Amino acid sequence: MRIGFLGLGNMGGPMAANLAAAGHEVTGYDVVPGLGTATDPVQAVRDAEVVITMLPSGRHVLDCYESVLAHAKPGTLFVDCSTIDVTDARAAHQAAVRAGHRAADAPVSGGVVGATAATLTFMVGAREEDFALAEPVLSAMGRKVVHCGHPGAGQAAKICNNMILGVSMIAVSEAFVLAEKLGLSEQALYEVASTASGQCWALTTNCPVPGPVPTSPANNEYRPGFATALMLKDLGLAASAARSAGVDAELGSLAEQVYRRFAEQGGGGQDFSAIVTAIRERSA
Ligand code: NAD
Repeated sequence: MRIGFLGLGNMGGPMAANLAAAGHEVTGYDVVPGLGTATDPVQAVRDAEVVITMLPSGRHVLDCYESVLAHAKPGTLFVDCSTIDVTDARAAHQAAVRAGHRAADAPVSGGVVGATAATLTFMVGAREEDFALAEPVLSAMGRKVVHCGHPGAGQAAKICNNMILGVSMIAVSEAFVLAEKLGLSEQALYEVASTASGQCWALTTNCPVPGPVPTSPANNEYRPGFATALMLKDLGLAASAARSAGVDAELGSLAEQVYRRFAEQGGGGQDFSAIVTAIRERSA
Protein backbone atom coordinates (compact mmCIF):
# COMPACT_ATOMS: atom_id res chain seq x y z
CA MET A 1 0.00 0.00 0.00
CA ARG A 2 1.08 3.60 -0.54
CA ILE A 3 0.82 5.25 2.87
CA GLY A 4 1.18 8.91 3.85
CA PHE A 5 2.21 9.28 7.51
CA LEU A 6 1.80 12.65 9.25
CA GLY A 7 3.42 13.16 12.67
CA LEU A 8 6.70 11.30 13.18
CA GLY A 9 7.23 11.89 16.91
CA ASN A 10 7.87 9.40 19.72
CA MET A 11 5.02 7.16 18.56
CA GLY A 12 4.65 8.01 14.86
CA GLY A 13 8.37 7.58 14.05
CA PRO A 14 8.60 3.89 15.01
CA MET A 15 5.06 3.16 13.72
CA ALA A 16 5.95 4.48 10.26
CA ALA A 17 9.21 2.49 10.36
CA ASN A 18 7.24 -0.71 11.07
CA LEU A 19 4.92 -0.04 8.12
CA ALA A 20 7.94 0.36 5.85
CA ALA A 21 9.51 -2.81 7.30
CA ALA A 22 6.29 -4.69 6.44
CA GLY A 23 6.73 -3.70 2.78
CA HIS A 24 4.46 -0.66 2.53
CA GLU A 25 5.59 2.37 0.57
CA VAL A 26 5.61 5.08 3.25
CA THR A 27 5.97 8.83 2.70
CA GLY A 28 6.34 10.57 6.05
CA TYR A 29 5.97 14.22 7.03
CA ASP A 30 6.51 16.12 10.27
CA VAL A 31 6.56 19.87 10.91
CA VAL A 32 10.00 19.28 12.43
CA PRO A 33 12.31 19.33 9.40
CA GLY A 34 14.34 16.20 8.71
CA LEU A 35 12.05 13.65 10.39
CA GLY A 36 10.24 12.64 7.20
CA THR A 37 11.00 12.24 3.51
CA ALA A 38 8.29 14.71 2.40
CA THR A 39 8.93 18.44 2.66
CA ASP A 40 5.24 19.33 2.99
CA PRO A 41 2.11 17.43 4.06
CA VAL A 42 0.50 17.56 0.60
CA GLN A 43 3.46 15.67 -0.85
CA ALA A 44 2.85 12.88 1.72
CA VAL A 45 -0.88 12.45 0.93
CA ARG A 46 -1.07 13.14 -2.83
CA ASP A 47 -0.53 9.55 -4.06
CA ALA A 48 -1.51 7.74 -0.86
CA GLU A 49 -4.19 5.06 -0.56
CA VAL A 50 -4.10 5.37 3.23
CA VAL A 51 -3.14 8.45 5.30
CA ILE A 52 -2.24 7.97 8.96
CA THR A 53 -1.98 10.81 11.46
CA MET A 54 -0.22 10.56 14.86
CA LEU A 55 -0.43 14.09 16.25
CA PRO A 56 -0.51 15.73 19.69
CA SER A 57 -4.17 16.85 19.88
CA GLY A 58 -7.54 17.19 18.17
CA ARG A 59 -6.71 20.75 17.10
CA HIS A 60 -3.63 19.46 15.26
CA VAL A 61 -5.65 16.72 13.55
CA LEU A 62 -8.45 19.06 12.42
CA ASP A 63 -5.99 21.70 11.14
CA CYS A 64 -3.96 19.04 9.38
CA TYR A 65 -7.06 17.51 7.73
CA GLU A 66 -8.11 20.98 6.59
CA SER A 67 -4.83 21.50 4.78
CA VAL A 68 -4.56 18.06 3.11
CA LEU A 69 -8.06 16.63 2.45
CA ALA A 70 -8.54 18.50 -0.83
CA HIS A 71 -5.20 17.20 -2.14
CA ALA A 72 -5.73 13.46 -1.60
CA LYS A 73 -7.17 11.11 -4.23
CA PRO A 74 -10.95 10.60 -3.81
CA GLY A 75 -11.70 7.61 -1.59
CA THR A 76 -8.42 7.73 0.37
CA LEU A 77 -8.71 6.14 3.82
CA PHE A 78 -7.77 8.59 6.59
CA VAL A 79 -6.85 6.84 9.85
CA ASP A 80 -6.21 9.01 12.90
CA CYS A 81 -4.22 7.16 15.57
CA SER A 82 -3.76 10.17 17.89
CA THR A 83 -5.57 10.31 21.25
CA ILE A 84 -8.09 13.13 20.86
CA ASP A 85 -11.49 14.34 22.05
CA VAL A 86 -14.42 12.18 20.90
CA THR A 87 -16.12 15.31 19.49
CA ASP A 88 -12.97 16.22 17.52
CA ALA A 89 -12.72 12.62 16.24
CA ARG A 90 -16.27 12.79 14.91
CA ALA A 91 -15.58 16.22 13.33
CA ALA A 92 -12.42 14.88 11.66
CA HIS A 93 -14.39 11.90 10.34
CA GLN A 94 -17.11 14.16 8.94
CA ALA A 95 -14.57 16.48 7.28
CA ALA A 96 -12.87 13.52 5.56
CA VAL A 97 -16.18 12.05 4.36
CA ARG A 98 -17.40 15.45 3.14
CA ALA A 99 -14.20 15.74 1.07
CA GLY A 100 -15.00 12.39 -0.59
CA HIS A 101 -12.79 10.13 1.55
CA ARG A 102 -13.12 7.27 4.06
CA ALA A 103 -12.13 7.66 7.70
CA ALA A 104 -11.43 5.77 10.92
CA ASP A 105 -10.30 6.71 14.42
CA ALA A 106 -7.76 4.21 15.74
CA PRO A 107 -6.08 5.36 18.97
CA VAL A 108 -3.55 3.03 20.53
CA SER A 109 -2.36 1.66 23.81
CA GLY A 110 1.07 0.22 24.38
CA GLY A 111 3.23 3.36 24.44
CA VAL A 112 6.59 3.90 22.76
CA VAL A 113 7.68 0.36 23.65
CA GLY A 114 4.66 -1.07 21.81
CA ALA A 115 5.09 1.33 18.89
CA THR A 116 8.71 0.22 18.47
CA ALA A 117 8.04 -3.51 18.84
CA ALA A 118 4.84 -3.39 16.69
CA THR A 119 2.79 -4.75 19.59
CA LEU A 120 0.29 -1.88 19.95
CA THR A 121 -3.42 -2.42 20.55
CA PHE A 122 -5.62 -0.39 18.18
CA MET A 123 -9.16 0.60 19.17
CA VAL A 124 -10.98 1.38 15.96
CA GLY A 125 -14.12 3.41 15.28
CA ALA A 126 -15.18 3.02 11.65
CA ARG A 127 -17.81 1.72 9.29
CA GLU A 128 -17.45 -2.03 8.63
CA GLU A 129 -15.97 -1.64 5.11
CA ASP A 130 -13.49 1.02 6.25
CA PHE A 131 -12.41 -1.17 9.17
CA ALA A 132 -11.79 -4.04 6.72
CA LEU A 133 -9.45 -1.78 4.75
CA ALA A 134 -7.67 -0.39 7.82
CA GLU A 135 -7.14 -3.67 9.67
CA PRO A 136 -4.25 -5.17 7.64
CA VAL A 137 -2.40 -1.84 7.69
CA LEU A 138 -2.82 -1.45 11.46
CA SER A 139 -1.79 -5.08 12.00
CA ALA A 140 1.68 -4.22 10.67
CA MET A 141 2.08 -1.86 13.66
CA GLY A 142 0.33 -3.83 16.39
CA ARG A 143 -0.68 -7.13 17.90
CA LYS A 144 -4.37 -6.50 18.40
CA VAL A 145 -6.86 -4.51 16.30
CA VAL A 146 -10.32 -4.20 17.84
CA HIS A 147 -13.34 -2.88 15.94
CA CYS A 148 -15.15 -0.92 18.68
CA GLY A 149 -18.03 0.36 16.56
CA HIS A 150 -19.07 3.51 14.70
CA PRO A 151 -16.72 6.50 14.07
CA GLY A 152 -15.61 7.95 17.42
CA ALA A 153 -16.01 4.59 19.23
CA GLY A 154 -12.24 3.98 19.16
CA GLN A 155 -11.56 7.22 21.04
CA ALA A 156 -14.43 6.45 23.41
CA ALA A 157 -12.90 3.04 24.22
CA LYS A 158 -9.48 4.58 24.80
CA ILE A 159 -10.60 7.25 27.27
CA CYS A 160 -13.02 4.95 29.12
CA ASN A 161 -10.22 2.40 29.61
CA ASN A 162 -7.76 5.05 30.76
CA MET A 163 -10.29 6.52 33.19
CA ILE A 164 -10.53 3.07 34.83
CA LEU A 165 -6.72 2.91 34.89
CA GLY A 166 -6.22 6.42 36.32
CA VAL A 167 -8.71 5.87 39.13
CA SER A 168 -7.57 2.33 39.96
CA MET A 169 -3.91 3.37 40.25
CA ILE A 170 -4.84 5.96 42.87
CA ALA A 171 -6.93 3.39 44.77
CA VAL A 172 -4.07 0.86 44.73
CA SER A 173 -1.58 3.54 45.84
CA GLU A 174 -3.78 4.74 48.72
CA ALA A 175 -4.15 1.12 49.84
CA PHE A 176 -0.36 0.60 49.90
CA VAL A 177 0.20 3.78 51.95
CA LEU A 178 -2.59 2.78 54.34
CA ALA A 179 -1.07 -0.70 54.65
CA GLU A 180 2.31 0.83 55.53
CA LYS A 181 0.71 2.95 58.26
CA LEU A 182 -1.12 -0.09 59.64
CA GLY A 183 2.07 -2.13 59.78
CA LEU A 184 1.07 -4.46 56.94
CA SER A 185 3.94 -5.28 54.57
CA GLU A 186 3.67 -4.38 50.89
CA GLN A 187 4.36 -7.98 49.93
CA ALA A 188 1.57 -9.28 52.19
CA LEU A 189 -0.95 -6.79 50.78
CA TYR A 190 0.17 -7.74 47.27
CA GLU A 191 -0.18 -11.46 47.93
CA VAL A 192 -3.72 -11.03 49.23
CA ALA A 193 -5.07 -8.34 46.85
CA SER A 194 -3.52 -9.79 43.67
CA THR A 195 -5.55 -12.97 44.08
CA ALA A 196 -8.59 -11.40 45.78
CA SER A 197 -11.23 -8.90 44.70
CA GLY A 198 -8.77 -5.96 44.66
CA GLN A 199 -6.96 -7.50 41.69
CA CYS A 200 -6.37 -5.10 38.73
CA TRP A 201 -3.69 -4.17 36.17
CA ALA A 202 -2.53 -1.21 38.30
CA LEU A 203 -1.66 -3.72 41.03
CA THR A 204 -0.46 -6.82 39.22
CA THR A 205 1.41 -5.33 36.24
CA ASN A 206 2.24 -1.70 37.08
CA CYS A 207 2.51 -2.16 40.87
CA PRO A 208 3.26 1.32 42.34
CA VAL A 209 5.70 0.08 45.01
CA PRO A 210 9.02 -1.61 44.28
CA GLY A 211 9.30 -5.32 45.05
CA PRO A 212 6.16 -7.33 44.38
CA VAL A 213 6.29 -6.97 40.55
CA PRO A 214 9.97 -6.63 39.57
CA THR A 215 9.22 -5.27 36.06
CA SER A 216 7.00 -2.36 37.20
CA PRO A 217 8.34 1.22 36.79
CA ALA A 218 8.51 1.59 40.62
CA ASN A 219 11.62 -0.62 40.49
CA ASN A 220 13.24 1.72 37.98
CA GLU A 221 12.87 5.12 39.70
CA TYR A 222 9.41 5.50 38.13
CA ARG A 223 10.78 5.99 34.62
CA PRO A 224 7.79 5.72 32.27
CA GLY A 225 6.06 3.48 31.30
CA PHE A 226 3.13 5.76 30.96
CA ALA A 227 3.98 9.31 31.98
CA THR A 228 1.74 11.25 34.40
CA ALA A 229 1.43 14.04 31.78
CA LEU A 230 -0.12 11.58 29.30
CA MET A 231 -2.49 10.18 31.93
CA LEU A 232 -3.51 13.75 32.73
CA LYS A 233 -4.21 14.43 29.07
CA ASP A 234 -6.43 11.32 28.78
CA LEU A 235 -8.33 12.12 31.99
CA GLY A 236 -8.95 15.63 30.61
CA LEU A 237 -10.42 14.06 27.46
CA ALA A 238 -12.53 11.70 29.60
CA ALA A 239 -13.80 14.65 31.68
CA SER A 240 -14.69 16.59 28.55
CA ALA A 241 -16.55 13.57 27.10
CA ALA A 242 -18.35 13.02 30.43
CA ARG A 243 -19.43 16.68 30.49
CA SER A 244 -20.81 16.61 26.96
CA ALA A 245 -22.55 13.25 27.56
CA GLY A 246 -24.03 14.48 30.86
CA VAL A 247 -22.28 11.79 32.94
CA ASP A 248 -21.39 12.46 36.58
CA ALA A 249 -17.93 10.82 36.57
CA GLU A 250 -17.00 11.98 40.06
CA LEU A 251 -13.93 9.79 40.59
CA GLY A 252 -12.69 10.38 37.04
CA SER A 253 -12.62 14.13 37.60
CA LEU A 254 -11.14 13.77 41.09
CA ALA A 255 -8.38 11.58 39.62
CA GLU A 256 -7.65 14.33 37.08
CA GLN A 257 -7.15 16.80 39.96
CA VAL A 258 -4.89 14.38 41.85
CA TYR A 259 -2.59 13.83 38.83
CA ARG A 260 -2.66 17.55 37.93
CA ARG A 261 -1.38 18.50 41.38
CA PHE A 262 1.35 15.85 41.09
CA ALA A 263 2.34 17.14 37.62
CA GLU A 264 2.48 20.72 38.94
CA GLN A 265 4.84 19.52 41.68
CA GLY A 266 7.21 18.15 39.02
CA GLY A 267 5.88 14.59 38.55
CA GLY A 268 4.66 15.02 34.94
CA GLY A 269 7.58 13.12 33.42
CA GLN A 270 7.44 10.23 35.90
CA ASP A 271 5.36 7.10 35.45
CA PHE A 272 1.83 7.75 36.71
CA SER A 273 2.29 5.06 39.38
CA ALA A 274 4.65 7.52 41.13
CA ILE A 275 1.42 9.06 42.45
CA VAL A 276 2.03 6.74 45.43
CA THR A 277 5.00 8.93 46.43
CA ALA A 278 2.77 12.03 46.56
CA ILE A 279 0.15 10.21 48.64
CA ARG A 280 2.88 8.96 51.00
CA GLU A 281 4.30 12.50 51.38
CA ARG A 282 0.89 13.97 52.14
CA SER A 283 0.36 11.22 54.72
CA ALA A 284 3.69 11.73 56.50
P1 NAD B 1 5.07 13.61 19.97
O1 NAD B 1 4.89 15.00 20.44
O2 NAD B 1 6.36 12.90 20.23
O3 NAD B 1 4.78 13.53 18.39
C1 NAD B 1 3.88 14.32 17.70
C2 NAD B 1 4.56 14.78 16.41
O4 NAD B 1 3.62 15.48 15.60
C3 NAD B 1 5.72 15.74 16.66
O5 NAD B 1 6.89 15.23 16.05
C4 NAD B 1 5.26 17.05 16.00
O6 NAD B 1 6.31 17.79 15.43
C5 NAD B 1 4.32 16.51 14.94
N1 NAD B 1 3.36 17.46 14.38
C6 NAD B 1 2.64 18.43 15.01
N2 NAD B 1 1.81 19.05 14.13
C7 NAD B 1 2.03 18.45 12.93
C8 NAD B 1 1.47 18.64 11.61
N3 NAD B 1 0.54 19.56 11.38
N4 NAD B 1 1.91 17.85 10.61
C9 NAD B 1 2.86 16.91 10.83
N5 NAD B 1 3.42 16.68 12.05
C10 NAD B 1 3.01 17.45 13.07
O7 NAD B 1 3.83 12.79 20.61
P2 NAD B 1 3.68 11.20 20.72
O8 NAD B 1 4.16 10.74 22.07
O9 NAD B 1 4.23 10.58 19.48
O10 NAD B 1 2.10 11.07 20.74
C11 NAD B 1 1.31 11.21 19.57
C12 NAD B 1 -0.14 10.89 19.91
O11 NAD B 1 -0.20 9.54 20.42
C13 NAD B 1 -0.75 11.78 20.98
O12 NAD B 1 -2.08 12.05 20.64
C14 NAD B 1 -0.65 10.92 22.25
O13 NAD B 1 -1.65 11.24 23.22
C15 NAD B 1 -0.86 9.52 21.69
N6 NAD B 1 -0.28 8.45 22.50
C16 NAD B 1 0.98 8.55 22.98
C17 NAD B 1 1.51 7.51 23.75
C18 NAD B 1 2.91 7.59 24.30
O14 NAD B 1 3.26 6.76 25.16
N7 NAD B 1 3.75 8.53 23.86
C19 NAD B 1 0.74 6.37 24.03
C20 NAD B 1 -0.55 6.28 23.48
C21 NAD B 1 -1.04 7.33 22.71
